[in-house]
Amino acid sequence: MTQNFDINSAIDPVKLEKLAEVAVKVGLQLQKNQDLIITAPIAALPLVRFITKQAYMAGAGLVTTFYSDEETTLARYAHAPDASFDKASGWLYEGMAKAYDGGAARLAISGDNPMMLASQDPDKVSRANKANSIAYKPALEKISNFDINWHICSYPNPAWARQVFPDLAEEAAVRALAEAIFSASRINTPDPIAAWGEHNANLKKRSSFLNGERFSALHFTGPGTDLTVGLADGHEWHGGASKAKNGVTCNPNIPTEEVFTTPHALKVEGHVSSTKPLSHQGTLIDNIQVRFEAGRIVEAKASKGEDVLNKVLDTDEGARRLGEVALVPHSSPISASGVLFYNTLFDENASCHIALGQCYSKCFLDGASLTPDQIKAQGGNSSLIHIDWMIGSDKVDIDGLRADGTKVPVMRKGEWA
Ligand code: ZN
Ligand code: ZN
Repeated sequence: MTQNFDINSAIDPVKLEKLAEVAVKVGLQLQKNQDLIITAPIAALPLVRFITKQAYMAGAGLVTTFYSDEETTLARYAHAPDASFDKASGWLYEGMAKAYDGGAARLAISGDNPMMLASQDPDKVSRANKANSIAYKPALEKISNFDINWHICSYPNPAWARQVFPDLAEEAAVRALAEAIFSASRINTPDPIAAWGEHNANLKKRSSFLNGERFSALHFTGPGTDLTVGLADGHEWHGGASKAKNGVTCNPNIPTEEVFTTPHALKVEGHVSSTKPLSHQGTLIDNIQVRFEAGRIVEAKASKGEDVLNKVLDTDEGARRLGEVALVPHSSPISASGVLFYNTLFDENASCHIALGQCYSKCFLDGASLTPDQIKAQGGNSSLIHIDWMIGSDKVDIDGLRADGTKVPVMRKGEWA
């Protein structure tokens, strides 16, 4: 595929540098002399350059970037021997884990073509993903245990932009997607850093309410949904900025509109339907319907991508159980924009969601001091995967269930009650 224009010209460089500044100062809260590891699609080079500049201006020790590229990924699927699909660069992830142990922070730029692998052999895709997940574990654990400050942000890749805005020409689509990213990231406010301070305070208010209530379960009802999600023993709600174990308060996701906690891996009952398509590593999975018994998915259907969904569920035992439940009002700026981003970082912030797989140990009271066995005993799930999918809409109601059985309205028609 040829690009007949320079993508950089479609993106406002002043706003792009503001996005980089927000990523470094709010997202990472990068510390003086702290090293930084960046992973990014090669198309995101202009953003990587601004982030690197902002990081050094903030006093970064050493910034190291690893790039990925769509064409080289596809070359593997077209030409690599079959055995290649069970391989992954474990040495790289071990090196990253070592850097995090040494105090480095982590920044990931998402923005790959969501349909990149859609026409590839699903068996090869799932084997490659599995090999990569296993190899990635030493590095991912530092992130999911929140050992270090980390942050993920996005760059508008042309293929992604065309999917989000199919009626626009490529250049206009990239410009529109860039604007949607800037707006969702509060870059279009007069003082984005101050706007994030205010928004973080609002999210804290919601999570404090839920932590005060200590619900034993949440009950979701809506079209195709009647789901009771038991919450883990000693669960804790989080939202917005939070403190990593290295003592740095960062905003891992920008944008973020969610408050979230850990469900009980054995106490989820009923059925639930997705309300938005899920873009999973290059494949679209749509109209998901699953049924839970004693926390485990016993039946799973999808109108599109059902094969991929079932392969995901077979990754390991924990892949059929929940690791996260998150509440997002339907009126969140991302939902109000009406844009479907086909990207979890954005779409999960338009809607209440649940995640299959690994839980976050920080979503427990005193989570930093719990061992993996204690987390498991309290109902925390473990898995190689963590995949969010959207179950909220303006037709979904949520009640909190107290231990004594009383019901408290939490959300009505998608809004905080
Ligand atoms: Zn979430
Ligand atoms: Zn999640």
